[in-house]
Amino acid sequence: MQIIDKDINPYVDEWEKAKIFPAKKVFKKLGDAGLLGVTKSPEYGGLGLDFSFAAAVAEELGNINCGAIPMAIGVQSDMATPALNTFGSDYLKRNFLAPSIAGDMVACLGVSEPTAGSDVAAIKTRAERKGDDFIINGSKMWITNAFQADWICLLANTGSSSKLHQNKSLIVVPMDTPGIELIQKIDKIGMHSSDTAQINFENVRVPASHVIGEEGSGFMYQMVQFQQERLYGALACLRPLEKTIEETREYCRMRKIFGKSLLDMQTVHFRLAELETEIEALRALCYTATEKYLYNEDVTKLASMCKLKAGRLARECTDSCLQYWGGMGYTSDVLISRFYRDFRLISIGGGADEVMLSIICKYNNSLPK
Ligand SMILES: Cc1cc2nc3c(=O)[nH]c(=O)nc-3n(C[C@H](O)[C@H](O)[C@H](O)COP(=O)(O)OP(=O)(O)OC[C@H]3O[C@@H](n4cnc5c(N)ncnc54)[C@H](O)[C@@H]3O)c2cc1C
Repeated sequence: MQIIDKDINPYVDEWEKAKIFPAKKVFKKLGDAGLLGVTKSPEYGGLGLDFSFAAAVAEELGNINCGAIPMAIGVQSDMATPALNTFGSDYLKRNFLAPSIAGDMVACLGVSEPTAGSDVAAIKTRAERKGDDFIINGSKMWITNAFQADWICLLANTGSSSKLHQNKSLIVVPMDTPGIELIQKIDKIGMHSSDTAQINFENVRVPASHVIGEEGSGFMYQMVQFQQERLYGALACLRPLEKTIEETREYCRMRKIFGKSLLDMQTVHFRLAELETEIEALRALCYTATEKYLYNEDVTKLASMCKLKAGRLARECTDSCLQYWGGMGYTSDVLISRFYRDFRLISIGGGADEVMLSIICKYNNSLPK
């Protein structure tokens, strides 16, 4: 992809050092090329294509030489906007979806909180109805794109119902609304060029018309939105893992050890072949899930399998390959160590491996009630 080769990869090292990348500039380029709205309605500037095209884009974005920028792009295209596209009002779509597809606005997603990550139903952020407005109080944690975002797709409690899955709403909140405070830019072990922050909300007033779809359906919308997030996350892992193997193979071919090429050790070339096979198996799993998603089948279980396998394999692949680089693998100078740090997140973000396992077990009817 030309944008990656020309406008992104040459600057990745610089942005990783700066611990932020210019989201507005990069998203504008992607928006102009139609890549932020592949599946979105043409009425709002999207391409109106099916998810197989978005899957191809997610895979292609894996050619970016870090995990942070594909993650930030995924937040914009496949994590913060799917519910808005499907359930949002014309007013919200014109004012927030269309500019996000065009790359004129940056979006972020606010689900996780300091005291609720895996247990989404336990979020405490509350939006209280006052006349035609909602007043929001609470705190969101780990928010990707937070410092550059123009709006947040916020999950908040809006109802008093004790049914935790029916008392939440997704609300579009402009980030310049009074009462929003970005607490800190979180210093992470990887994904360095992505800005991640805690955001506090104190008496933040938004019109009730900013609720996406039906009030009280936010938890359900978010669960649907998670499917696309998890598929995107797994698909965007494929190329980096392949690149990890390609770079390791070339390094080992060049590196002489005990009088011969390191790659000539059977343990090395066999291991790389085995990992490559695993990546192809992950790709097949992702394509199966994508195909079923196209036919509107419930892919909750398959998307969870994709995300689980991607997280496990990312750890296995980057760890095994880093080992073959010896001391060089332990430096910050090589891509392999960046991928080792960045892709450790796949097993945690967007639902930890154990949450994926719980979902799979729920669908298998093997989860204790
Ligand atoms: C870099 C980064 C970017 C992120 N971006 C966003 C974002 O943009 N928006 C957003 O809303 N969130 C974001 N997150 C939050 C992410 O989704 C959460 O970190 C994740 O859901 C886990 O929640 P937690 O950190 O609160 O861990 P906890 O919920 O405290 O879980 C801790 C650990 O408990 C274990 N565990 C969980 N459930 C079970 C179980 N059922 N059985 C056994 N063990 C279990 C797992 O090992 C898990 O890692 C981001 C996180 C990071 C680190």
